[in-house]
Formats: sequence, structure tokens, C-alpha cells
Amino acid sequence: MPISNPSMPLVPDGLHVEDLTRDGTALLITARTTAAQASCRVCGCASTRVHSTYWRTFGDLPWQDRAVTWRVQVRRFRCSHCPGRIFAERAPGLGARKARRSDRLAEVQTDIGMVLGGEPGARLSRRLAMPVSGRGSRWPSPASPP
Ligand SMILES: [Zn+2]
Repeated sequence: MPISNPSMPLVPDGLHVEDLTRDGTALLITARTTAAQASCRVCGCASTRVHSTYWRTFGDLPWQDRAVTWRVQVRRFRCSHCPGRIFAERAPGLGARKARRSDRLAEVQTDIGMVLGGEPGARLSRRLAMPVSGRGSRWPSPASPP
């Protein structure tokens, strides 16, 4: 069920929430990055030359007993100084490159795993709306960007 006029006061800086969708046990937050530029990881120079966009998905800490998934549209930029180099911006406040969960969720799940071990930790994580399964997202893929 889409929620009209989504607004969240605790959204990480650099993200704009476009949509919130919830069902009985889960919340999907669709957002995009807002920075005007990104820095090349090789030379450190800022670029505003957008090459393309794509979607990243992050699990996050639960909210009101609902598993939270962020779907963030991030951009690839062309570097003005490195010939032919294309790089992706980070999703601010969520996770490292190629991460599938936020840093804060990874920290909590690691703590649970260290204390309880594999299967008991996975059961507790599911009970706390932080499933550790790598079976893919429960949410359908987003439409292609305009
Ligand atoms: Zn560069």
C-alpha cells in the first residue's frame, strides 16, 4: 500500500525519499541520491557528468516490527580527468560499496551471530524483523529510470 506524501525526519543526509510502501511485515523505502556531484575514487576529482543510473538495495534495521528495505537510485559519473573512467556514487548513510545491508544492520547481525551462533542467531534475527537470508528481495524490481 503506497503512502502518499512520504516524509521521514531521520532520512540520511544526501537521500530524498520518493516513496514508502508497506505490507504486513515489511517496509520498502524508495529513495534517490541528491548530491550534485561525486568524487572519482582514483583521482579524487569531483564530477557532475552523469553517465547512467541504477538501483541498489539495502536491508536496514527494523521499524515498528517491520523489516526495512531501502531501494536507492544511484548514479554513475564520468570522470573528467581519468580517460574513459566511469564510477558510481555511494548511497550516503547506508552501506559500503557492494553492501546489501546497512552498516548498522550488519553490526547488529554480527553481534547476534557472535553471541548465538549460526542457526539460533538467524532465528532471532528473523524474529526481530532482521532476516539474514540471502534469498533475494521480497519486493518486485523497480521500473527502469526515465
Ligand atoms: Zn578520476
